[in-house]
Amino acid sequence: ATLPAHLRSVAAAQAGAPAVISRHQGRRLSYGELMAAADRLARGLLGLGFGRGDRVGVWSTNNVEWLLLQLATARIGAVLVNINPAYRPRELAYALERARVQGLFLIPAFRHSDYVSMLTGEVPELVTAPGGHWRSARFPALRRVVLFDPRDPDPARPAAGFNLWNEVLEAGRGVDAAELEAATAALDRDDPINIQFTSGTTGFPKAVLLSHHNLLNNAWFSARLLGFTPADRLCVPVPFYHCFGMVLANLLCLSAGAALVLPAEHFDAGACLDAIAAERCTAVHGVPTMFIALLEAQADRPRAVESLRTGIMAGAPCPVPLLKRVMGALHCPEILIGYGQTEASPLTHLTRRDDDLGLRTETVGRNLPHQEVKVVDVKSGATLPRGESGEVCFRGYHVMKGYYGDEAATRRTVDANGWLHSGDLGSMDADGSLRITGRLKELIIRGGENIYPREIEEVLFAHPAVAQAAVFGVRDDYWGEEVAAWVQLKPGRPEAVEALREWCAAHLAHYKVPRHLRIVTEFPMTVTGKLQKFRMREAMEKTLG
Ligand code: ATP
Repeated sequence: ATLPAHLRSVAAAQAGAPAVISRHQGRRLSYGELMAAADRLARGLLGLGFGRGDRVGVWSTNNVEWLLLQLATARIGAVLVNINPAYRPRELAYALERARVQGLFLIPAFRHSDYVSMLTGEVPELVTAPGGHWRSARFPALRRVVLFDPRDPDPARPAAGFNLWNEVLEAGRGVDAAELEAATAALDRDDPINIQFTSGTTGFPKAVLLSHHNLLNNAWFSARLLGFTPADRLCVPVPFYHCFGMVLANLLCLSAGAALVLPAEHFDAGACLDAIAAERCTAVHGVPTMFIALLEAQADRPRAVESLRTGIMAGAPCPVPLLKRVMGALHCPEILIGYGQTEASPLTHLTRRDDDLGLRTETVGRNLPHQEVKVVDVKSGATLPRGESGEVCFRGYHVMKGYYGDEAATRRTVDANGWLHSGDLGSMDADGSLRITGRLKELIIRGGENIYPREIEEVLFAHPAVAQAAVFGVRDDYWGEEVAAWVQLKPGRPEAVEALREWCAAHLAHYKVPRHLRIVTEFPMTVTGKLQKFRMREAMEKTLG
């Protein structure tokens, strides 16, 4: 099925049930209201001349309008382009160019500054014209820019050069319901509906093209494995712009008829805990750094979080002690580890609720139904036996259609037989459970010796004073690369660098002990909460000369 066809059948069965509760906007929409609002917006998009295959960007923090744009674009077969709310205008320009965005929806106020004036100031190619028709030599595809205020999506306040949300809805008045139905009926499940940029953990984000079939199946199977029903309420700390939010939160919930709870515009641990307690959420998702923050906030001021049952921790290595603390202190006994990547829609592996504790904490679980997985030798490409470590590859409905506008990069990533090469290193247990050992790009080669940062991070993590740790390679004249580590300590737990190094030496071969170890109070992170080691490496290499 296409995404709109499936979601409409879910909504029809429970029109009165809550679909989204946006606490920071003070808005609650039932399934019936959500679908009606999305249809209104879809008609507006048609009225503005957008249709199947057109690229519509959204540059916003989490709010109801973001979700409406996701549903409305899918309804008419337009391609939603998710733009990271942390982007500065230079990075926005990259995304607009890469995805050849034709329409852009944005909120006026971002976290750090007034982006709109920066846009016109720092990207002078973006020139405004009356009536919201944009002309730009640099972005020839771009023709509409729509400003909306999530606190008030129908602002009376005019803004020169921009369309406003209510003007878009107005444009839909001339489009009747039959036209909208015809637009949806013309869609094919293999049509692309989304361009998603990867996190940028290892460098510049890549534009991943995904279809109805990719996304809907991934969300649906994930919902089944979590045991989601209409009685569930998911607290969403993860950003919508990333696949974790837009697929594993939004589509997972809606495909199961459950409710989404939005605590805040962007991640706020306290607001999440308040939302869980007030709305009696049954599930919460997050990357590991978010769960660390949730645990700290809960220790600071305990909330009633006993309604929690499950959720997905994914996106980066999930340390065993952290997982156990989440099961206990956050009352999340069925928390599952997910593994995947944007190129795979995103989920490929999930632990199962009935796996034993060892599997559920040490592996990323088994592959999702109807997906194939193999581990290959990095040099020869030969499939490796179970237990041996190599590059993890996937094949199935979930493999992306490609990198948008980059055939060569697509061919480097998805081979002629349809196998997606993940760039991650791992090994498969006898029962099919996968252990991720690291990323190819992050592998440290010190004097010919392969060192997996993940192994050292786990040792550091097991130290009682350590809250967060990142291990990476830095250039070294003699060894080629040396092991470096950044460590953040738990509050009130001073610990000497030397003591940490001794701890490592007691648990690791000498060549794996971090030669350069720095105690830090914060890490460079993507807005999805992933640690950016390439930035740590740059900073470290600068100080090391
Ligand atoms: P970029 O490709 O731009 O550097 P990115 O790879 O972080 O960014 P995403 O698609 O957001 O982009 O993240 C996918 C990657 O995150 C995976 O390839 C893997 O390295 C890592 N990852 C995801 N889940 C897990 C997990 N449970 N355990 C270990 N690593 C994980």
